[in-house]
Amino acid sequence: STSYETGLTKTRSSFSEKFQLLMANFRAVDENFFDELEETLIAADVGFDMALKISDELQDEVRLTNAKSKKEVQNTIIEKLVDVYDRAGNGEDNTMHFAQTVQPSIFLLVGVNGVGKTTTIGKMADFYKKQGKKVLLAAADTFRAGATEQLVEWAKRDQVDIVTGKGSSDPAAVVFDGVKKAIDGDYDILFVDTAGRLQNNENLMRELEKMKKIITRQLPTAPQEVLLVLDATTGQNALQQARLFKDSTDVTGLVLTKLDGTAKGGIVLAIRQELHLPVKWVGLGEKVTDLAPFNADQFVYGLFK
Ligand code: GDP
Repeated sequence: STSYETGLTKTRSSFSEKFQLLMANFRAVDENFFDELEETLIAADVGFDMALKISDELQDEVRLTNAKSKKEVQNTIIEKLVDVYDRAGNGEDNTMHFAQTVQPSIFLLVGVNGVGKTTTIGKMADFYKKQGKKVLLAAADTFRAGATEQLVEWAKRDQVDIVTGKGSSDPAAVVFDGVKKAIDGDYDILFVDTAGRLQNNENLMRELEKMKKIITRQLPTAPQEVLLVLDATTGQNALQQARLFKDSTDVTGLVLTKLDGTAKGGIVLAIRQELHLPVKWVGLGEKVTDLAPFNADQFVYGLFK
């Protein structure tokens, strides 16, 4: 869509500016060039060790292939970055896991406050509704003030159904009601918005486990997706959160939000390298269509365009 294009363009204009500058300044594949490449990667929040590693591997590759021209060198860099992303994975792809039998698929969104969980659910609900899926939302973030109202707004906008708690409901009760309605009403997908309170690891783990237990009790299989939402603009902080959540629950994939207008998109590689989790979606703005399935080739290629 056009807004996806604009979002991607915005991403390019900030994140990729440095890559474009690097190539604009290209004279020859010498020490100076690799120094600048390292600086570019570090500035993009790829991480220090990772930047050096990529640079080393590139030097070998350039020597091996005898790449000399700007175009050849640029292509080698693109191939290397995609290769680094692919190698860090476990062979999984970025597709969503749906229920294997005729029952609702449950997608749990987790992450700290403000990263974009509610917004992402609003966007994803629209995405799947347009594919003809019957979508239900569960507002199980009963802690953050206004979180339920915000999701109710999205439900209205998307024209999908929603289950909310009454007053200061227990999130577990909302999850229970959501799963029941999803089963009884033959919904294809139930999105669960969860609270982003982060006091300590144990608390978080307990809350998420409780939700999963409630779902499993009503449905034979566990949630098909636990998507960890991370704010790309927070760079290394996002990596910290990813570590904590990965230790606390079975995260199946990542959503990287706010990639529009950040120079820190390199965090995609840093997180992938350390935690081996697939990035499934990227958020590219605040509008309903500003969400796209992640594609490593497109992402890296886009940096140089
Ligand atoms: P939650 O607390 O995790 O549910 O976060 P929200 O969904 O309330 O989002 C927090 C803020 O981030 C809101 O102002 C959103 O509009 C904004 N936001 C979410 N995703 C994106 C994105 O991809 N790009 C931009 N620019 N803003 C986003």
